[in-house]
Amino acid sequence: MIPSYDILIVGSGLYGATFAHEANKCGLRCLVIEKRSHLGGNVYCEEVEGIHVHKYGAHIFHTSNESVWNFVNSIVSFNRYTNSPIANYKGELYNLPFNMNTFYQMWGVKTPREAQVIIEVQRQEALDLMRSQGHWEPTNLEEQALILVGKDIYEKLIKGYTEKQWGRSCVDLPAFIIKRLPVRLTFDNNYFNDCYQGIPIGGYNNLIQGLLSGIDTRVNSDFFENRAYWESLAHQIVYTGPIDQYYEYQFGHLQYRTVRFESEIYDVPNFQGNAVINYTGKEIPYTRIIEHKHFELFGNDINRIGKTVVTKEYSMEWQPGMEPYYPVNDTRNNEIHAKYRHLAEKEEHVIFGGRLAEYKYYDMAPVIERALNDARTFIKER
Ligand code: FAD
Ligand code: UDP
Repeated sequence: MIPSYDILIVGSGLYGATFAHEANKCGLRCLVIEKRSHLGGNVYCEEVEGIHVHKYGAHIFHTSNESVWNFVNSIVSFNRYTNSPIANYKGELYNLPFNMNTFYQMWGVKTPREAQVIIEVQRQEALDLMRSQGHWEPTNLEEQALILVGKDIYEKLIKGYTEKQWGRSCVDLPAFIIKRLPVRLTFDNNYFNDCYQGIPIGGYNNLIQGLLSGIDTRVNSDFFENRAYWESLAHQIVYTGPIDQYYEYQFGHLQYRTVRFESEIYDVPNFQGNAVINYTGKEIPYTRIIEHKHFELFGNDINRIGKTVVTKEYSMEWQPGMEPYYPVNDTRNNEIHAKYRHLAEKEEHVIFGGRLAEYKYYDMAPVIERALNDARTFIKER
């Protein structure tokens, strides 16, 4: 059988859609197959009561990479949404990320100097403890958090949330997870340090539609249900599904965290006054509540829609059949993944890309950057 496409792309998330877009631009015939009933992977939104509901978890686009920002803006414009989550600990409210507003709420301090003194005392206690145990670098998330912000913030804003999110004790988690959270001595509630952020105007589906415009796509099409047929359609495959599944779990299953979403429609225009409220205490079973309309409506425009959609997120251990969301990059999983990656590196006609195929805790912008680079390299070397 003569292949009818140059590239078969398995998965229509941001990696697959970006790769397909670049290849199609250069005249390559692409087919994108998607096992779900819709395109877009985890950035897909469902419209409910005129509100774009982030069906697979809240997604905020942010980057400092100008070429990625220019690329996505060539497809769709972005609004001015700035992520400024609030933490609710046993009814007390704190601003995130950790900044002067948080320190004022935690300790009543009003100047950077006062905050610094408290943090420094608590950091020093943590450093002394670590050194008494014979190590100079943090070996787990708890130590990393304690030397970053001290025990008060760790105990109220980090420990409970992290242990709910990952289902593991902070002493059993890698330090890198928490390193990305900014700590600032300014009154700045912007969760990200990046130069650019926002939500695509009209929702993420517009971004995906723009990327896949003019490209053949098939939904409800699982690569593994008819592998030989799909493989016969193209010489080259771009695979964005789970890497362990591609190799029939021969080295064992990789572990993920998944999230159960519980959405409700409320008959009020504004339920919590913010898109994201994290519940950082262990006694509340969910990690956060998302109120979706705040991603796209600002100020009094909130009242244009009399209802609101809110989603509680419950973090859980992944079991086969559930959606794999967050790779668990601990030692055991990284070792298994290295064995799969070794096989993948030997493939001549398969490119593995994206969060599941690379088993990597990836944000959207780096996924797009990687897909652009991989596609451009592929096109050049072809
Ligand atoms: P995916 O979006 O997972 O796409 C993979 C696609 O492949 C899926 O559609 C899947 O159905 C399909 N597929 C898998 N197997 C097969 C098969 N056998 N046959 C056919 N199709 C298949 N990033 C940010 O930058 N900001 C955020 O705020 C943010 N929030 C997040 C919140 C949550 C809960 C999660 C889980 C992630 C978040 N991310 C965020 C990360 C972001 O979702 C990813 O970086 C990005 O979506 C990854 O794109 P991808 O194409 O690699 O994977
Ligand atoms: N985190 C926390 N308290 C919070 C928010 C985040 O302790 O209120 C920790 C948690 O361990 C999380 C990590 O910081 O896994 C990274 O947070 P981020 O919001 O970047 O995670 P995401 O949900 O985007 O993966």
